Amino acid sequence: MIKCAIVTIGDELLYGHIDDTNATWLSQELTKNGVIVSARITVGDGISDIQGALEVAFNNAEVVILTGGLGPTQDDKTREAIALFCKRPLAREEALASMLEKHFAPRGPGVVALNEKLAWVCEGSEILPNAKGTAAGTWVDEQRGAIISLPGVPYEMKIIMEEEVLPRICLRYDVEPLFIQWIMTAGQGESSLSVALESIERNMPKGVALAYLPSLQGVRLRLTSSKELEKESKKIAQAIEACLGHLVYAKENTTLSHVVHNMLIEYRIKIAFAESCTGGNIMATLVKHPESSQYLLGGHVVYSNDWKHQEIDVSKGLLDSCGAVSEEVARSMAEGAMANAGADMTLAVTGIAGPGGGGPTKPVGTVHIALCYNEITYHKKFRLHTDRAVNIALTTTLALNMVRLALQGSLEA
Ligand code: ATP
Ligand code: MG
Repeated sequence: MIKCAIVTIGDELLYGHIDDTNATWLSQELTKNGVIVSARITVGDGISDIQGALEVAFNNAEVVILTGGLGPTQDDKTREAIALFCKRPLAREEALASMLEKHFAPRGPGVVALNEKLAWVCEGSEILPNAKGTAAGTWVDEQRGAIISLPGVPYEMKIIMEEEVLPRICLRYDVEPLFIQWIMTAGQGESSLSVALESIERNMPKGVALAYLPSLQGVRLRLTSSKELEKESKKIAQAIEACLGHLVYAKENTTLSHVVHNMLIEYRIKIAFAESCTGGNIMATLVKHPESSQYLLGGHVVYSNDWKHQEIDVSKGLLDSCGAVSEEVARSMAEGAMANAGADMTLAVTGIAGPGGGGPTKPVGTVHIALCYNEITYHKKFRLHTDRAVNIALTTTLALNMVRLALQGSLEA
């Protein structure tokens, strides 16, 4: 198996001004293609920083992929650093030079002169054409391995990687793509899942790996193995799905909101919302999917008690006696939304998002979700987190999950 190190270059990465999405994407693509990513290094724009990173990277890799620092400006020094590392001069690539000349000529001689730098590459480099920009990538074979240099701009980096680099890697090295399966879950945290899956995991054959990837949108489970173990891996996926039952919402790498969106279209259900603590976030999550108009009637964002009363007829007596964050009010909100929306299904949420507003009987993170469907009002109470943003995101996930369970007939009253 071949090992590859990723070096991302740019002061702005070190300052935290931008996220290193290039490294994440490269890791995913390389892993998918059976390349072991042995290290990820981020350095500033300086020549010696880049040389140092190459030095470290080759300690445990035979291929190093760099991104960034290929532009025409003073701060872009990757080509010089590679040439110094390889102890070779920079050489002018005539084909690149004439392409650049043609491209920049309309912008004046000053721009042509500035971009002349882009035609110079470490001697002996193979040019990797850039279909979406002017800075070409390069591949140079050195004593210690291959050095591949790509632009920092993500969409340019990606296209060169897909069209030029990955095909070459597969051709030149002995790589075997991994067999990857996804099991998407919602409704339980990773520790509960891991307890449930303990015996399956204990008996998993060597070479099959299970990863838990938790987020506020649920826990994704990823099974990876070599192609040879595909059969065994499929059997394990089936066992996991059987064990987790209704917690599984998809067998591909998708999102819960997308699955719910597709189900609402397929089941021809019209839905309306009454949202308090999520402030419209549940509806906003569905609106992001094109064609949501097929099922989405509308939503009431009812934050204050007055609005809960005026908009969806929650009685003042109920609000006074039970409090806005209660099972009774959640049910009344869902039923009130049903009364005036002409919907097949309504969903209501009320809770304490925090950080303030909690008390001993209703601590921050207390959330009630009610759902009306087929003449039944379902209700669930949750005790979530202390962080406001987390509570809003988790409530949205749990609400969408209740819609999914109701549609597939597995929501308990
Ligand atoms: P340019 O020709 O634009 O100068 P370049 O190859 O020199 O390209 P950089 O100057 O390092 O690349 O980065 C250009 C832009 O690409 C940055 O402003 C940033 O928005 C984005 N970028 C660079 N590196 C990364 C990275 N590792 N992850 C995500 N985005 C990045
Ligand atoms: Mg630059």
